Amino acid sequence: MLTKKRKPFSKYTHVSCDSCQVLVINNVVCHEGGCPDAWKDKKIPCFECGFDFKREERYQKTCQGCIEDNENNAREYYQELERQKEENENQD
Ligand SMILES: [Zn+2]
Ligand SMILES: [Zn+2]
Repeated sequence: MLTKKRKPFSKYTHVSCDSCQVLVINNVVCHEGGCPDAWKDKKIPCFECGFDFKREERYQKTCQGCIEDNENNAREYYQELERQKEENENQD
């Protein structure tokens, strides 16, 4: 049996916003209407994987995980290209 109980809302007790009087309602951070910083706390579905995520940059469309995946995929792709190039060069 669990004796220690964590407060579910403790995560958000120190939420503050430079641009408005931010509130926490039902564990959801609510900025005042028209707050220019509201996007930071609004989760949007990732363009790639579809899971909701918090943006680090205003016009970010994919979550951090997908961005890292894409970077890894790109690196592997270029490594493969390099390998093929070397193979072709060695054939001469
Ligand atoms: Zn705000
Ligand atoms: Zn994603």
